[in-house]
Amino acid sequence: MGVIKKREKAEAMSARKTEATADHHVVVLGAGYAGMAAAVQLAARAGRRKNLTVTLVNAQDRFTERLRLHMTATDQELAELSIPEMLEGTDARFVRGWVTAVDAGAKTVRIDDDRVLNYDTLVYGLGSVADTAAVPGVEDYAYTVNGPEEAEALAGRLAQLGSGTVVVAGSGLTGVESAAEIAERHPELDVVLVGRQEPGASMNPKARAYLRSALDRLGVRVLSGAEVVKVLPGSVELAGGDGVTAEVVLWTGGTRVSPLATAAGLAVDERGRIVTDTALRSESHPDVYAVGDAAAVRQGYGVMHGTCQGGMPTGVHAAVSIVRALEGKRPKPFRFGYYHTPVSLGRNDAVVQFTHAVERSEAAVRQAAHRAREHVRSRRPRFAADRTQQRDATERFFTAATGGDMNSLMELLSPDVTLWTDGGGKVRQALRPVVGASTVAAWFAAIGTVSYQGVEPADMRAELTEINGGPGMVFSGPDRR
Ligand SMILES: Cc1cc2nc3c(=O)[nH]c(=O)nc-3n(C[C@H](O)[C@H](O)[C@H](O)COP(=O)(O)OP(=O)(O)OC[C@H]3O[C@@H](n4cnc5c(N)ncnc54)[C@H](O)[C@@H]3O)c2cc1C
Repeated sequence: MGVIKKREKAEAMSARKTEATADHHVVVLGAGYAGMAAAVQLAARAGRRKNLTVTLVNAQDRFTERLRLHMTATDQELAELSIPEMLEGTDARFVRGWVTAVDAGAKTVRIDDDRVLNYDTLVYGLGSVADTAAVPGVEDYAYTVNGPEEAEALAGRLAQLGSGTVVVAGSGLTGVESAAEIAERHPELDVVLVGRQEPGASMNPKARAYLRSALDRLGVRVLSGAEVVKVLPGSVELAGGDGVTAEVVLWTGGTRVSPLATAAGLAVDERGRIVTDTALRSESHPDVYAVGDAAAVRQGYGVMHGTCQGGMPTGVHAAVSIVRALEGKRPKPFRFGYYHTPVSLGRNDAVVQFTHAVERSEAAVRQAAHRAREHVRSRRPRFAADRTQQRDATERFFTAATGGDMNSLMELLSPDVTLWTDGGGKVRQALRPVVGASTVAAWFAAIGTVSYQGVEPADMRAELTEINGGPGMVFSGPDRR
């Protein structure tokens, strides 16, 4: 115990020394859900900490909403989210480029083979892609929903077809969502979902039955207990010798990660994901944090599987841990439990299985499930506001809140608005949500005038975003701790 305390003290002293003297450069690789969450959190703190600089590296300028790529694949337009714009107003630097190597000894990152970035701490969030090497023929003859270009290519092909069969190979949740989306948007096509497992195999019987009935309603033919062993031009071959004729094959059978971590000599698991300690640092190289799909993060229930639901919290945790370490504090262990498994079944239906039902009353779970279903069915519009309109709305909201102006607040708020908040300061847990325009307006009129006294609008951060699947705004004040 004494030894640990002594070591902690020495680490803290050395961190404080570093803090006082040197600039600390954090490089974040990958601007997916996890890397972006880390970069945004770090950027918010970099402004206040003069010795922290942040560089985010990503292959594209545009933020890819990967979990919506089945919508792109069926020619539905997604919001244009520019990464440089998302970082606007912060000191974080964005570098567009393809990472070709990480030298974990020299602490450098090579981009497009010719640029080199030095780092003190690396956040590795290069995500994953469909495993196109899983069976022969996928690379040559199958489509994927790996990125916008691939999804757009599929959309183009589906639009041309007119009739014929689309095989969606892989009956995991990505396969289910994609098959449902294609069947709904292209009723003229015969969609066959082929996989080893029954769709929704990991869900409870009721959710699985619901999912299956939605696939039936959409006309998706399900072929489970079937393993695709080869993709050919115009068909897929199954284990046992049978085949399915297909004009188009979409491959969703498993994912793989970038080989860069393995090549860099970082400790990886059998799938090439970086093995982390409890604080999300690489077990072999503690100055590398691994987040999202690229990390093998062990929790009490096993290694987390790749989802954006779990990826974003890893990004936030890495950012907070880096700042803690710079302040001479030990990073806290990362803890994450899945709250629900949501599966879209086209644009007007979904099934949401709440995973911690045992900890909640049955009535509460029913109510949450009902709300989720209503939300999906109500087809709420996505934000149409551009950046200037967003800023204008934020400014008006802040002015109204600090001025206690109930009428202006009521004008700005949607009638069914819900406000989630935490206690701020030392009370960091979520408070009960406040529901309805008049209650939320009253909350701000009362609290806003007191809490934000002396605060300039420029000190406030407001982000339009989706919260629990609905349009929302995250509004945060300066950290006064
Ligand atoms: C169709 C579909 C539906 C899904 N639905 C859900 C869902 O409903 N819920 C859920 O939780 N999850 C869902 N997922 C999974 C989810 O999208 C992933 O788990 C999540 O995107 C992982 O986030 P990430 O930040 O780790 O990586 P990614 O989102 O993959 O981001 C990685 C980023 O790194 C960049 N990159 C990679 N390599 C390099 C390189 N060498 N150089 C530069 N940049 C690089 C990529 O371009 C990308 O921008 C779905 C996935 C798909 C494909």
